[in-house]
Amino acid sequence: MEELLEELLEECRPYTKMGKLADYIPELTKGNLDDLGVFVVRSDGKRYSAGDSRKKFTIQSIVKPILLLQALMDNGIETVRSRVGVEATGKPFDAINMTDQSLLSENINPMVNMGAIAMCTLIHGETYEEKFQRVLDLTRTLACNPDIDVDEAVYESEKRTGNKNRALGFLLKAYNMIDEENIDAVLDCYFRACSIRVTSEDLAFIGYALASRGKAALTNERIFPSKYGTYVNAILATCGMYDGSGDFAIKVGLPAKSGVGGGIMAVAPTRMGIGLFSPGLDEKGNSLAGIKVLEKLSQRMYLSIY
Ligand code: GLN
Repeated sequence: MEELLEELLEECRPYTKMGKLADYIPELTKGNLDDLGVFVVRSDGKRYSAGDSRKKFTIQSIVKPILLLQALMDNGIETVRSRVGVEATGKPFDAINMTDQSLLSENINPMVNMGAIAMCTLIHGETYEEKFQRVLDLTRTLACNPDIDVDEAVYESEKRTGNKNRALGFLLKAYNMIDEENIDAVLDCYFRACSIRVTSEDLAFIGYALASRGKAALTNERIFPSKYGTYVNAILATCGMYDGSGDFAIKVGLPAKSGVGGGIMAVAPTRMGIGLFSPGLDEKGNSLAGIKVLEKLSQRMYLSIY
């Protein structure tokens, strides 16, 4: 398996330079286009890696399934679903509705920014710091890594430049889709969550917890009820790669989530969790070489669920 991963990385290395670093969060331009790493956690407990699998980067949108899990654990499916829908948007992750039609909660999705910002308001906690801390704790539990922390420089950078996300937060309020009055506090929780620092190894562990529908990789302890795993995986399969989800479903065929930090977490239900890292992004904001590696891995190991 390790040989296969090494081989795939060498085959896909040329693609790393074809992607572009995310530059709308200035701190992310410090990334290195040469980085490429993969980590696999299998259901038999075996773990395999190749390349820069222990290099740290910010989780960015891959925190969205974790926000969703926390919201589900705190409120149950019915409440979450009544506040944020499940249909794929077919739109970019930061899309703003430019029409003058009413925005409805059923038209947003937890895997794009607007839905994820709404999700922050559903997480339990006295303050938004407390809500964020619970998301960080859940991330650590899912990844079996108590050392996961926040990249303060990326957090500051994103907070300084995140005006489009602010606009989305205020739109949510304008259309009565969230109860919270203090939109800045909600956004702060979202920016911090996106700045959680992980490795491909961490992503593979988180992917494993979803692949096993709720069990932690190292301890086999149940972290969340399996029905929430089914819910999150289905949304990942239909909207986890934004407006590239259909193409990804055909080429890779796995529930997955990308982030503009260059990470991808993929879930092969009952079989394995996969973490990838390569910061060069395609025009949809998904790791270009990361998708290529997954495509080849899926073909070689017959991973597609379709
Ligand atoms: N923090 C990023 C943003 O809100 C996350 C987007 C992403 O990873 N696609 O713009």
